[in-house]
Amino acid sequence: MQLDKIEMSGFKSFADKTVIEFDKGVTAVVGPNGSGKSNLSEAIKWVLGEQSAKSLRGKKMDDIIFAGSQTRKSQNIAEVSLYINNEDKTLAVPHAEVVLTRRLNRKGESNFYINREACRLKDITNLMMDSGLGKDSFALISQGKVEKIFNDKPEDRRSIIEEAAGVLKYKDRKQQAQKK
Ligand code: ATP
Ligand code: MG
Repeated sequence: MQLDKIEMSGFKSFADKTVIEFDKGVTAVVGPNGSGKSNLSEAIKWVLGEQSAKSLRGKKMDDIIFAGSQTRKSQNIAEVSLYINNEDKTLAVPHAEVVLTRRLNRKGESNFYINREACRLKDITNLMMDSGLGKDSFALISQGKVEKIFNDKPEDRRSIIEEAAGVLKYKDRKQQAQKK
């Protein structure tokens, strides 16, 4: 599985449609302070299901929508798509390319899509949960996260290992079933 491309529009500082393609191997994103490096990683996190505005450095979720600048007016919609190469079938869907999309407008309406078909957030999190790329996985380590992992309670730290081992999905389903 490989993240091939990301498309963003209206997400944080990416007011216009911005497309970034990732080559095979390691990609380093460099740029001056405030140029959008963290915003880019947050865009990925957001599509993967991040529901906490705080962990996207906002107060409320619509803080992720482009808020305008001195020269441009604000946007009303944020949309991000991740293009994932799934030729190795890491994700349990019969598609060689999986496109995950999340959209949010200022009314607070949120939409999720897998390969352009409307779905629930849950469908995206289920799909990604055991891939090592889930929103809580250690594939995305933001500032302060390393310290948090060290200081976490052992149970919380265990969930990282459970995700890597692929058992988190089953635990989650068990919990859902017990709630019903
Ligand atoms: P550093 O090197 O300091 O970590 P960075 O490249 O990670 O910087 P980011 O934190 O990604 O930079 O980008 C911060 C910029 O994004 C700020 O200029 C901030 O005003 C802008 N920004 C954040 N949210 C929005 C928004 N909703 N609308 C417009 N701009 C935004
Ligand atoms: Mg940063």
